Amino acid sequence: MPNQPLPTLHELEIVRERLKEQIAQIGDLRLGTLSESYRKCGKPTCHCAREGDPKHGPFYLLYRRGKGQKAIGHAIPGKYVEKTREQVAECHRFRELCREYMEISEQIGDLKMKAQGEGLSEPVKKNS
Ligand SMILES: [Zn+2]
Repeated sequence: MPNQPLPTLHELEIVRERLKEQIAQIGDLRLGTLSESYRKCGKPTCHCAREGDPKHGPFYLLYRRGKGQKAIGHAIPGKYVEKTREQVAECHRFRELCREYMEISEQIGDLKMKAQGEGLSEPVKKNS
C-alpha cells in the first residue's frame, strides 16, 4: 500500500482558509434536537382514548439540555418546523466545521514548530 504523503503547511493553510469561508457563510442556527410526537389529551371521551387511535399531533418539540443535564423540550409553532429543522442541521454543520478547523489549526501549529526544529514534548502528567 503506498504511503499517503503528509499534507504540507501550505496545503493545510488552504484547507483552513476554505473552512473559514464556509464558517463565514453559516446562517441561523439552533441548538438542540427536533422531535415529532403524538399524544393523548387525557379526555376519556376523546377519539385518542381508543386503542390504536393515531392520537393528536404531530407536535414538534425542540429538545435541549437544561440544568442538571435533563433534556427540556420547547414546542415549535407548525409553520417554523421546516426552518427549525434547517437551523438544527446548520448547527451540526457549524460544529463539524469548527471541529475540523481546530484539528487543522493544531496540525499547522505542529508543522510550524517542526519547521523550527521544535515540537511538543511527550505527554506530561498534570500536577494536582
Ligand atoms: Zn384527545
